[in-house]
Amino acid sequence: MHETVVAESVLRTILEHAEKLKARPVRAVVSCGQFNALNEEAMKFAFETAAAGTVCEGMLLQIRQIPLRAVCRACRTVFELNLMTPLCPQCRSEDFEIQPDAPLLLEEIEFEDKS
Ligand SMILES: [Zn+2]
Repeated sequence: MHETVVAESVLRTILEHAEKLKARPVRAVVSCGQFNALNEEAMKFAFETAAAGTVCEGMLLQIRQIPLRAVCRACRTVFELNLMTPLCPQCRSEDFEIQPDAPLLLEEIEFEDKS
């Protein structure tokens, strides 16, 4: 499953940072585009499973879905592509160019405040 692989790789990165900072991670934000979209429930479950018994156990994982953008070839409007209704919102054209999808990214790790 896609989510398991992603969760394990995210966990590995967080553990490396935690090791370096000697701090306990409490929250992390992962963002992803639409083509490699993560199922939020599956991702959280996979992460919890992978994190069990590590310093990451019980931390909060947040997933931010980045919408896919497209540029209309007719009127050059840049818009968020809705895959259900793939039309330019400005001129209703179906002729558009899809922008590169957002990569899967570990955006942020928050550590416990030691003070
Ligand atoms: Zn247009």
